[in-house]
Amino acid sequence: MLAVPHTVDVAGCAVGALDRAAWAAHLARCVAAGPGHHHVSLNAAKWRAMQRAAPLRRAVRAAPSVAAAGAGIRAAARWLGRPLPGRATGCDLAHDLLARAADAGWPVALLGAAPDVVDAVAARWRGVGVDVAYARCGYFAPDEERGVARAIAEAAPALLLVATGTPRAELFVARWAPVLQVPLAMGVGGAFDVMAGRTPRAPDGVGAAGLEWAWRLAHAPRARFRRAVLGSAGFAAAIARGDRLPP
Ligand code: UDP
Repeated sequence: MLAVPHTVDVAGCAVGALDRAAWAAHLARCVAAGPGHHHVSLNAAKWRAMQRAAPLRRAVRAAPSVAAAGAGIRAAARWLGRPLPGRATGCDLAHDLLARAADAGWPVALLGAAPDVVDAVAARWRGVGVDVAYARCGYFAPDEERGVARAIAEAAPALLLVATGTPRAELFVARWAPVLQVPLAMGVGGAFDVMAGRTPRAPDGVGAAGLEWAWRLAHAPRARFRRAVLGSAGFAAAIARGDRLPP
């Protein structure tokens, strides 16, 4: 387990001060360093969920690396006078690491999303030479978790991508790490839906301009739109008030 060389405090959460390329390189070193590295992608919604839920807070704080995944976290860091050099979403890093997995021969486990989605993602990456040693959908009962963790451990992946959403992904990795014994495990949100072409991805220029949130909002269903607007406003207000995550 390797520590991130430089972190900044974003309202009570230590966030790695790395850009996307540096994160991909760091996480590749983590794969080589042996079991137990948990990587978390932090956005405003997750920060707010951490404010409310102690188990998620504990799981994220125990993770040795946390990346700024959203424009909101970068804006907050700037506002707090500790700017971050870039951002890296779970989806970006999943792409970068799967591309490396093909060259490096890392066995990979994919957990999450609907059955046809995870199967499509597994087929896509197998098609470019990735050894997908395990693939399972993300819909299972809490009492099945132990069996899922054991099956992943048996497949002995170098990299585990968990696309079950927050907080399920973070809590699953934190709870089952001793069974999993995976070098690198990370939550990747809705990345499988994007990879399978079920969720449209913002064009590159939009992401680079830090406007992916606006693009996603414009394409979101009405309920999600409402939640996202209220969530972002709530996060901005919390940061402006000087709120920090509870201990
Ligand atoms: N999902 C899952 N199991 C569940 C609930 C959700 O595998 O019990 C999947 C869902 O199919 C989708 C992803 O988790 O692919 C959620 O993506 P989202 O972008 O909402 O993730 P978040 O932003 O919450 O991390």
